[in-house]
Amino acid sequence: MADKIVGIDLGTTNSVVSIVEGGEPIVIPSAEGDYLFPSVVGFSKTGERFVGSVAKRQAVSNPDRTVISIKRHMGTDYKVQIDDKQFSPQEISAMILQKIKTDAETYLGFPIEKAVITVPAYFSDSERQATKDAGTIAGLEVVRIINEPTASCMAYGLNKGEDDNAQTENVLIWDLGGGTFDVSIVEVGGGLVEVKSTAGDSHLGGDDWDQRIMDWLIEDFKNRYNIDLRADRLAMQRLKEVAENTKIKLSYETTAKVNLPFIAADATGPKHLDVELTRAKFQELTADLVERCEIPAMRAIKDSGLNLHQINKVFLVGGSTRMPAVQDKVRALFNREPASGIDPDKVVAMGAAIQGAVIAGEVKDMVLLDVTSLSLGIETVGGIFTKLIERNSQIPCSKTRIFTTAADGQTVVEVHVLQGERELAAHNKSLGRFELRNIPPAPRGVPQIEVTFDIDANGIVNVSAKDMVTGNQQKITIQSPTSLSKDEIDTMVKEAAIYAEEDGKRREEATVRNKANIEIDTAEHTMRELGERINPDHQIALRNLIDQLRISLQATDLAKIAADTKLLQDQLYAISTDAYYALDTGRVAAKDQSEEAKRQEIYDLSSDEEPEDDELFGWFNQEEGK
Ligand code: ADP
Ligand code: MG
Repeated sequence: MADKIVGIDLGTTNSVVSIVEGGEPIVIPSAEGDYLFPSVVGFSKTGERFVGSVAKRQAVSNPDRTVISIKRHMGTDYKVQIDDKQFSPQEISAMILQKIKTDAETYLGFPIEKAVITVPAYFSDSERQATKDAGTIAGLEVVRIINEPTASCMAYGLNKGEDDNAQTENVLIWDLGGGTFDVSIVEVGGGLVEVKSTAGDSHLGGDDWDQRIMDWLIEDFKNRYNIDLRADRLAMQRLKEVAENTKIKLSYETTAKVNLPFIAADATGPKHLDVELTRAKFQELTADLVERCEIPAMRAIKDSGLNLHQINKVFLVGGSTRMPAVQDKVRALFNREPASGIDPDKVVAMGAAIQGAVIAGEVKDMVLLDVTSLSLGIETVGGIFTKLIERNSQIPCSKTRIFTTAADGQTVVEVHVLQGERELAAHNKSLGRFELRNIPPAPRGVPQIEVTFDIDANGIVNVSAKDMVTGNQQKITIQSPTSLSKDEIDTMVKEAAIYAEEDGKRREEATVRNKANIEIDTAEHTMRELGERINPDHQIALRNLIDQLRISLQATDLAKIAADTKLLQDQLYAISTDAYYALDTGRVAAKDQSEEAKRQEIYDLSSDEEPEDDELFGWFNQEEGK
């Protein structure tokens, strides 16, 4: 039994734990008998700690000593201050995991040592690492971190009939939780689960629906009694609780009574809140929230390269998808019935449990693929961001490309690792940098430095650089001290689109200038190599063209730089051809030069295309860039 692996959905609002028994995932209840463990930790004044539903309940009377939504801070240096103690997000999360572990052990009757924990697909390395650390602190070996949408598909995948397994389907996962909305497009079939794209709104969830009910209740109360409940903190907490309960009730009934005795008092005595809210009124109050869901949904579809009609299935995930208005929105948008059969708030944990069973060897024929949320790459000459791993690539994955030096005799290259969608390095997020030293001095373009990006199944990135001649190698594991929030990711992706044109121009400028410099280098090299063998007219012409290009380079007219580069290049071709035919001794060197010029062309032309692995040459931004 000790080799059993549980699946844990460590949610922002609620957590759920599941285990596969007899080939099927079951949800393990808490000691209080609920299948949801509210992700809430409370501290009493006497030093006691409450976790889960008890903590959620005492939040009403103890708001200052209650920690909610800690998941939003995972991977950051945020600290929770309780009296003279400070807690990291990992420690708070560990308290939740500990409660889950203990309750599950009591229920199952055997110790739990291993777990698969889910995280949002957009979680960065440090957020994943922090989640893993939380597990370790709680005494759990986290055998795998998997993406929530992937887990949902695992849960549905296992429930699919055998015959369906062969065909591939595009699934949209609509996950509306307590405070966040996540949309993922996933390809499922033939035992494969692959996340194609993700989008979302990190500040849209059940809490917003609760807030609308609260606002309405407060307004109503003010109109009746001229008392503003907002001023009373305790009243606000009671209102929040009743608002959520009312909302949940309205998912099943068309009217709900709201009753809060002794909510306030004035000179005339105590006041009670006692009103009725209809579903129709509630839906009117929250219509705009439902509408907001459409934006990320459309973006996720667009990013996946599919269109709306190519979505074969829609899965509803998260407690808030129990609201009829949300389900109606999904029906209207996709013109289909969302898949049903698994509770929206259990599905993620069940998928994680299935993944646990796959790892433990209990369930076969299920593979798992995940994706990166932002592109990864390095900085190359001219401050250009050269991507090695594209956004939404499957993980685990590994990508290798050969780079070379930018200057003659360059012995050091700096590998600056970045994450983002912008074309210029400076606009992306720096994840770390390291140097590869002691490269044997050689002309620019000769050394071959192999750069490899490795992303493991948990989404943790390793980058290495190796000098192919000496075998000398350097590497780093990316554990960035700060992490990207979902907002930041959304912003980065959006900005990339907004600035695409401007970035493209600057990239073009860097490319044009880079090319000009290389052409000047080549020309000077050729003159040194061929010396007197170049006919004097050609020599003068070449010198003039070099000078002319140098002058152009000092100005900003790109077209002029490009034109002068072309003139110099043509002159070089002419000289090379001359030398090739006329002078046997000059043959090899000249031919090499023109070959190199051509290869240069190939690189520039193909840089917008999907590059061939191991064949692409870039330039490190070492000497020239500084
Ligand atoms: P998270 O993934 O963010 O931890 P959940 O998926 O557990 O959160 O969703 C929690 C949210 O779902 C809460 O806002 C809760 O009020 C809401 N919720 C749960 N059940 C219902 C229901 N029957 N009707 C409407 N909202 C619900
Ligand atoms: Mg969730």
